[in-house]
Amino acid sequence: MKQSSAFIPTLKDSPADAEVASHRLLVRAGFMRRVASGIYELLPLGARVVRNIERIVREEMNAAGAQEVILPIMQPRELWEESGRWSKYGPEMMRLKDRADRDFGLGPTHEEVITDLVRSNVSSWRDLPLNLYQIGDKFRDEMRPRFGLLRGREFIMKDGYSFDRDEEGMRRSYQAMYDAYGRIFTRSGCTWRAVEADTGLIGGDVSHEFMVPAAVGEDDIAYCEGCDYAANVTLATFKRAEPLRGEGKAAEKVHTPEKRTIEEVSSFLGLGPDRFIKCLMFLVEDKPVAVLVPGDREANETKLERVLGTDEFRLFIEDDWKRFPSYLQGFVGPVGLQAAEVIADVALAGAGGMVCGANEEDYHLAGVDEGRDFTAGRFEDITSAREGDVCPRCSGTLRIEAGIEVGQVFQLGLKYSEPMRCYYDDEDGVSRPMVMGTYGIGVTRLMSAIIEQHHDERGMLWPLAVAPALLHILPLNYEREERRSAARELYERCQERGWEVLLDDREESAGVKFADADLIGIPYRAVVGKGYDEDGTIELQVRTTGEKNKMDMDSLMGLLQQAVDTLADERPHVS
Ligand SMILES: [Zn+2]
Repeated sequence: MKQSSAFIPTLKDSPADAEVASHRLLVRAGFMRRVASGIYELLPLGARVVRNIERIVREEMNAAGAQEVILPIMQPRELWEESGRWSKYGPEMMRLKDRADRDFGLGPTHEEVITDLVRSNVSSWRDLPLNLYQIGDKFRDEMRPRFGLLRGREFIMKDGYSFDRDEEGMRRSYQAMYDAYGRIFTRSGCTWRAVEADTGLIGGDVSHEFMVPAAVGEDDIAYCEGCDYAANVTLATFKRAEPLRGEGKAAEKVHTPEKRTIEEVSSFLGLGPDRFIKCLMFLVEDKPVAVLVPGDREANETKLERVLGTDEFRLFIEDDWKRFPSYLQGFVGPVGLQAAEVIADVALAGAGGMVCGANEEDYHLAGVDEGRDFTAGRFEDITSAREGDVCPRCSGTLRIEAGIEVGQVFQLGLKYSEPMRCYYDDEDGVSRPMVMGTYGIGVTRLMSAIIEQHHDERGMLWPLAVAPALLHILPLNYEREERRSAARELYERCQERGWEVLLDDREESAGVKFADADLIGIPYRAVVGKGYDEDGTIELQVRTTGEKNKMDMDSLMGLLQQAVDTLADERPHVS
């Protein structure tokens, strides 16, 4: 690729809407442009990176026994009605009608379509296990698209689906995908962490997310310093400390005029927030439910959803307080409380000497003991882990870090095969539902995550395996004939070996060429300049380390060949 004719529209300034490095750099370096909110075009260099990531994904998927298919983006409503997700998916699914007024959705995921394909064409135990995947466009009408490709509305995803005869088979398929995912992210140049995850709208029982640690990540991960426990904070558990004890005195009413929040009452009474019981009122399937958590903790809605067994709940809003006037906003407490159900965090079991709302305007109760003054219908794990909490497995210390979710794997079980009647006949002719798994990788999101982990103040630092090119050739003062012909010779020799290289054949100043090269971030750079005039050497620069070495063209080719060979060794060997 010659830079004078390549379509690489670099920019001096960052786009105004870019909040994170990957978004800023992809636009500035001419890899990507915005069409509409959350919708982007990938220009030649961006497309190359995406194709490189896809190549790694394909190699690992194929080596793990998965077969590639191409499924339609447009999916008929009827299939989504069968799984119950046509209504469940809500406004996140892009919908449209054809000329005959039939409803379609643009696929945010493909469980329904693939299950339909398999149930119509696979009927015998002999055809299982089956593992199919595709790489293609997905649509999600995000409420708040942001961070460029990290949270877009149209994006490229690899999604895969496994079909097995039984649970054990599904777990084997799951493990094969889990292992392949690890190799994909490692080969893409990421440091990553697999964490236990919630199953959300996809469903199923067991799930792991693959997280790339990065400050801009929208997920928080809890991980243990002492063992390999790691989980998304939405469901990470932790060992609770011994409950606080009281002095055995009777609970006492204290006047707390106008003090409604834990913070206000805590400083008014001079007691730490951990001495408080936060009593949160939720409307759960139209009934008031009280949720009790320690005053220094937050209720975790993902955990709550599991405990409640429904996603139809919300924290009381203004209307709910009006509708149930017996609950006094700001002064609700568990003592003498009437609610459809009272659920408390496990940390409150046996707690004593606590402070809570008195269910009376301007009053709180102090010296409250669980068991004596109130109790809960259930004690559950409903608060979020935080930095410094105790690991549930080994009693080590939990740390919290931000991560970008680049992949997720799910053990679906019968979630789709049962309602959609995806059955097979076993050896005895008995009809049984297939046991499914589903596996996704955000390809364009992964490109952004790689940049978040690999950039500096001057630009991107592409890992070799996904880089838009192996080598960037920079002849300085291109008008000088001998430098020009050396650069062209190097370019041609690289092309003969099938390597992607970028030749900066523009008549620009050295400053401009170096600035653009830093921005674009190709791993190796060959500078043809003064050294070439003096003794025929070319300077090989490594973008990531800044390392520079002078050498002749043959040695340079040898070094690059080594780098290419090392990469090739990482590819799976399929027999
Ligand atoms: Zn641990």
